[in-house]
Amino acid sequence: MPKKFKVEVNSHWCKGCGLCLAVCPKKVFDFDENLKSTPARMEDCIGCKQCENICPDLAITVEGSA
Ligand code: SF4
Ligand code: SF4
Repeated sequence: MPKKFKVEVNSHWCKGCGLCLAVCPKKVFDFDENLKSTPARMEDCIGCKQCENICPDLAITVEGSA
């Protein structure tokens, strides 16, 4: 079984800059109708935490470890 990760975006803190969409190697994120990032394909996450590290507003948390 591949390891599962839980990705959360705090929509109150997300400003829609798109950095997480650009950096994620597995294309986990989409913008929702309010131009907030949302982890639409969380099942594809490999837990690299690049999204968590790049978000300027600390809006993303990734739980679980490889
Ligand atoms: S990097 Fe952070 S602020 Fe930018 S779109 Fe992603 S969650 Fe929102
Ligand atoms: S931890 Fe890596 S694979 Fe998972 S959502 Fe963030 S950037 Fe994408």
